[in-house]
Amino acid sequence: MADNLTSEQRSYNMSRIRSRGNSSTEQALIAVMRTAGIRGWRRKSKLCGKPDFVFPRFNTVVFVDGCYWHGCRKCGLGAKTNNEYWGPKISGNAKRDRRNTRELRAAGWKVIRIWEHELKAAPMKCIRKIMIAIGPEEL
Ligand SMILES: [Zn+2]
Repeated sequence: MADNLTSEQRSYNMSRIRSRGNSSTEQALIAVMRTAGIRGWRRKSKLCGKPDFVFPRFNTVVFVDGCYWHGCRKCGLGAKTNNEYWGPKISGNAKRDRRNTRELRAAGWKVIRIWEHELKAAPMKCIRKIMIAIGPEEL
């Protein structure tokens, strides 16, 4: 089935999945943050690794990582992707994520990374992580 696709077609399909995936996870987090009454985030950050959300007043950045593209180990999607092109690309993404987290922390940011699967399964747990970082005054 998948083998009928040329590599160009497959890359195109994959890039479509990626762009849709990102915005849907970000939109999902926005929806739960609004419900929880969390405010004050900025988007389109120029910071290291381009965090999805930045809370400048609280020195806090939030990344929402799609399980597939960021090589989530729990979902095991990375392991299934053993093809020559996407396998290394995904492990490269995961490595870059870890480096960006380290750099941001070294620069004094609190870094929260939320997996797509956590957001789906336990949105309130994700909200709690953010609330702990941004402090009781926003509760
Ligand atoms: Zn996952």
